[in-house]
Amino acid sequence: MEGPRKRWPRGETAVEGGEARIWPHWVRSLGVMIEARAQVRFACPACKRLYDVDLASLALLKGREWTLVDRRARCKASRCRASGRFVAAAAGDQPFLLLSASERLPDWLTGARPSDHEPPHSEPPTPPAPPGVDPVRWAYARDDRTRKRLVREARG
Ligand SMILES: [Zn+2]
Repeated sequence: MEGPRKRWPRGETAVEGGEARIWPHWVRSLGVMIEARAQVRFACPACKRLYDVDLASLALLKGREWTLVDRRARCKASRCRASGRFVAAAAGDQPFLLLSASERLPDWLTGARPSDHEPPHSEPPTPPAPPGVDPVRWAYARDDRTRKRLVREARG
């Protein structure tokens, strides 16, 4: 009978102190991450901020076979520079995975999705309503075409 926590022989895929981790296919290399449109961020454990990772530029530098799993990087904040890991999600509404076989996702990121860390609106703020235009309808106008129509209607 073998114990439930069988140790892997040295040099195999297992991580010291833990069990081997099976990664989803879309995290295995920069190339597959780009193909899968994975959402990848650098997560700073000190200032608890997420930074965008330019996968395309990284792939040009390191090659598409390179992986972010178990890599570390330095925080970009000039007064922080803490060492951190990368996190990735399959899509904006999917939870992040920590790309480290030996560490678990920190509490501040548990259950977090890329969309939770984006500002609520990426559109530029709406300009003030021109004279004669109903300000409520103006505020709800989602695009330039609607705004132009409201201006035309206001001019009669
Ligand atoms: Zn930082």
